[in-house]
Amino acid sequence: MVYDVIIIGAGPAGLAAGIYGKRAGLDILILDTSSISGGQILNTYEIDNYPGFPGASGQEVADAMRQHCDKLGVEFARGKVTSIIDNGSTKELVTKKQSYSAKAVIIATGASNKQLGCPGEDELSGMGVSYCATCDGAFFKEKQVAVVGGGDVALEDAIYLSRFCTKVYLIHRRDEFRGAKILQDQVKATDNIEIIYDTVVDSINGAASVESISIRNNKTDVATQLAVDGIFIAVGTTPNTAFLSELLETDANGYILADETCKASVAGFFAAGDVRTKQLRQVLTATADGANAITSIQKYLQK
Ligand SMILES: Cc1cc2nc3c(=O)[nH]c(=O)nc-3n(C[C@H](O)[C@H](O)[C@H](O)COP(=O)(O)OP(=O)(O)OC[C@H]3O[C@@H](n4cnc5c(N)ncnc54)[C@H](O)[C@@H]3O)c2cc1C
Repeated sequence: MVYDVIIIGAGPAGLAAGIYGKRAGLDILILDTSSISGGQILNTYEIDNYPGFPGASGQEVADAMRQHCDKLGVEFARGKVTSIIDNGSTKELVTKKQSYSAKAVIIATGASNKQLGCPGEDELSGMGVSYCATCDGAFFKEKQVAVVGGGDVALEDAIYLSRFCTKVYLIHRRDEFRGAKILQDQVKATDNIEIIYDTVVDSINGAASVESISIRNNKTDVATQLAVDGIFIAVGTTPNTAFLSELLETDANGYILADETCKASVAGFFAAGDVRTKQLRQVLTATADGANAITSIQKYLQK
């Protein structure tokens, strides 16, 4: 069977595309490595910024999206796509067990946060360890937090958190930031941000939630502890695109080049959600992409 559309990834972008695609009368298959739909939000304790779901857990939002797909009859299969063969008007998606064919493909495989890899990071994830200040910052009002990283995201996170946290430590392993000069100037001008250069995090400590972090100056080797309630790790993200090889054009960080139309560089391929180049990676923007990708595919299939 040749599907009209195969969507790779059952996160918010893929599920939204499933809903819009099915309602547009397209034959749709969603493939995911996991049998549980939801993607990254399954690891999110609370999503407080997706309209209509105040205070809901990631699992609840994911379940609601999956049920919506099921109600419309969207087909799902489990499988990790390992490669794609572009035969022009049809595309062959290869998984370990079998291959699938489609006229159009939406890549909605998301992105993974890079980790520090220190003790306590996994154990306290969601309990003070966060990779998303936009998502979790509001839970740290009037608290002391640390931000780790030296790029634009780390600088922006520090500025954002400084607006409602009493103190923000910005920890960077080098002696200068990579991020934009304008952001650096803003960080340096903010009273409650303290910059700690040349420093790495050795461990994140706490029983039920983050209580402190152990840091070490990598030039002097002097180790200290900082009392913080949260730590925001902004050391980069990696898009899940390894299976594409060099099929589609990406930016320097591996994100698929696509605008709001979600059209990728090769005809019949569309990128939706965190995996594409964009300003803000959130559930809301991922679901919007799912809808836009289907609109673009309808035009593509009409041709
Ligand atoms: C800890 C945390 C907290 C967050 N909190 C919030 C929040 O409060 N509010 C908010 O709006 N956003 C939040 N986000 C961001 C939000 O989760 C993402 O922006 C959103 O999930 C992106 O959706 P997506 O569909 O693009 O990708 P993802 O959610 O990453 O889904 C991608 C899916 O693709 C699948 N996949 C990957 N590779 C393959 C492959 N080769 N073959 C088959 N399947 C594959 C994965 O299994 C996954 O299910 C948070 C993120 C994290 C990590």
